[in-house]
Amino acid sequence: MNVLKVENLTKKYRSGNRELTVLDQVNFEVALGATLSIVGPSGSGKTTLLGLCAGLDVATSGSVILDGQALETLTEDQRAGVRNERVGFIFQNFQLLQTLTALENVMVPLELKKRKNAREKAMELLRKVGLEDRVTHYPNQLSGGEQQRVSIARAFANEPKILFADEPTGNLDTETGEMVENLIFKLNEEEGTTLILVTHDLELAARTHQSIHIKGGKLQEAIDG
Ligand code: ADP
Repeated sequence: MNVLKVENLTKKYRSGNRELTVLDQVNFEVALGATLSIVGPSGSGKTTLLGLCAGLDVATSGSVILDGQALETLTEDQRAGVRNERVGFIFQNFQLLQTLTALENVMVPLELKKRKNAREKAMELLRKVGLEDRVTHYPNQLSGGEQQRVSIARAFANEPKILFADEPTGNLDTETGEMVENLIFKLNEEEGTTLILVTHDLELAARTHQSIHIKGGKLQEAIDG
């Protein structure tokens, strides 16, 4: 069963009277519970593709079917609803709220969904990522690796069907990056969360079931690992 299907996806940006084709007729699909990496040189359209798959933006033409929903047929509010219900995000720069503690950051999605026992659930998630002794720390009191683990706990608070990760280890040293990678793959295995990740790290890409290579907006190859 596919959880994501991308069909003839094309994205063009207009600047002045010039048009830039960032993605050109891209096709691929991802099975439920699988891991996929998107690799390619800087500026090749990887982040744009991730944003389209996650419903953060809409394509110029083509289709993204996320968990059975054709995103291009939805309103912006409906797409936000799909994201809130089924999707988690991890970013290179963590994007934690600086005025909230680690625990409060993880509680945000739980409180938005009016979950009971948000505090206990957030504690449990922080325990899962090994940060039970950092819950009252603010982001600027945490190392990069710790901040990324908080952001992973926050993403999993959403109980996502799909986790989108944009260069999740890009700001981390090799050792910390590996620890964060291991955690993401462990959660994929334990929770069955589909993982779609953008990276320029080919070793990381080799750990995913499937890897797609984007160059000049076109899909170069699809390698099944
Ligand atoms: P990558 O993630 O592979 O580095 P991006 O998807 O960020 O690539 O960007 C692909 C191309 O699209 C780049 O040339 C970038 O400048 C351009 N681009 C990205 N977002 C916009 C935008 N909102 N408006 C115009 N051009 C954009």
